[in-house]
Amino acid sequence: MSDPLQPPLTDFVFTAEEEEAVEFALTTSKPWKHEHDDLKGVRAVLVALKDRVRSFHLKRQSSKCCYCRMNLHGGGSFIVDREHIVPKDKYRDLTYVISNLSVACKRCNMQFKKDDVGFLISRDTILTNHGSSDQYRFIHPNFDKYSQFIKKISYEEDDQVYVKYTKSDHPKAEYTYSYFDLRALEVNSFDQGQGIDTSSVTNLIRERLDQLVSQLG
Ligand SMILES: [Zn+2]
Repeated sequence: MSDPLQPPLTDFVFTAEEEEAVEFALTTSKPWKHEHDDLKGVRAVLVALKDRVRSFHLKRQSSKCCYCRMNLHGGGSFIVDREHIVPKDKYRDLTYVISNLSVACKRCNMQFKKDDVGFLISRDTILTNHGSSDQYRFIHPNFDKYSQFIKKISYEEDDQVYVKYTKSDHPKAEYTYSYFDLRALEVNSFDQGQGIDTSSVTNLIRERLDQLVSQLG
């Protein structure tokens, strides 16, 4: 299992109490649904564990969605989903596996990913091979470094927004871009009505940063 992110997956250690709670949860019909009556006895432990999972993965993703890199900083549970990469409803054994968890925005999770398994190379063997990057057609949130496949540049100032994804040649880049319809998130409202003659937003940003720096000086 390759792990290019920080803090490393090995830093996340289940306490004995958490292990016991998870083991019990996996014997019930909905192991992730701590609200369920079956999980009443271990609810508090699971809730705390799930909070810990979210904080851990927010750190690993620099508080960004693992699929579209939307900024999730300060978003709370209405914005941030704990994401099961291999869907828990189809592969319940992976429900609490830390490398199968990450953080995603609602758009990527609910609108595109849901419980689809089309991104898996082999549905039959994923349970044993889930720790391997090459078993996934998209950029894996834990085993791949997003910026090595897709670079996202975004800049906003007041009402102006710029978002652009630049893909590498790797097939995972194109797959991720189209699977999550990242094109729909691209926008450049700096070109309109600004009276600024520039085709390169990088130049625009550089100019603007220079302005800001000189104002600060
Ligand atoms: Zn997203």
